[in-house]
Amino acid sequence: MRLAIEIVQLLIQSADTWLFEETLSGLSDREWMALRFLARANRFSRTPTALASFLGTTRSVASQIAAVLQSKGLMVRKPSAEDKRSIALCITGEGERFLERDPINALRDQLVSLELPDRSRLRDTLRHVLDGLDAGKRRHRADVCSQCVFLIESGAGKERSFKCRLFRKPIREKETTLLCTYFEGRS
Ligand code: SF4
Repeated sequence: MRLAIEIVQLLIQSADTWLFEETLSGLSDREWMALRFLARANRFSRTPTALASFLGTTRSVASQIAAVLQSKGLMVRKPSAEDKRSIALCITGEGERFLERDPINALRDQLVSLELPDRSRLRDTLRHVLDGLDAGKRRHRADVCSQCVFLIESGAGKERSFKCRLFRKPIREKETTLLCTYFEGRS
């Protein structure tokens, strides 16, 4: 138990890289979180509803956050290619460049300095911990297609292809590492 408490304390202390008062480079911690999400979200999740779900807030608060990002030229609203009645929130080139100033990059760089097997183990451990928290709270977090129960993989080599059973749409290989708020874990 003592070891678990020590780990919790260490996680809390690392949180000041993504939770902070005031603003950093002109964005609040939630606005950074939104920009980061939109840069990694797949085509089904770049919507105000998905953004609200990811931030754990209401659609109206998510729309206000999106409006701030848009006013700074970091994001634009476009008609969704998936659903003509919906709007897609798309990060701009300026938004991509702005992410180089993301305060969370300090944490990312520390993780990059770990040996690859340690990094993989840490990722798998955190995913396992989050799976347990999700089950307890009866919620689904955003995660990547490659870990999702809805992903169907067929073929091999050049014939390898992916399809989402939930949306009944093909998924390109490079999309399998993007975040999806409709994700459901395999376990
Ligand atoms: S396979 Fe899962 S994670 Fe991927 S698009 Fe479908 S629902 Fe989302």
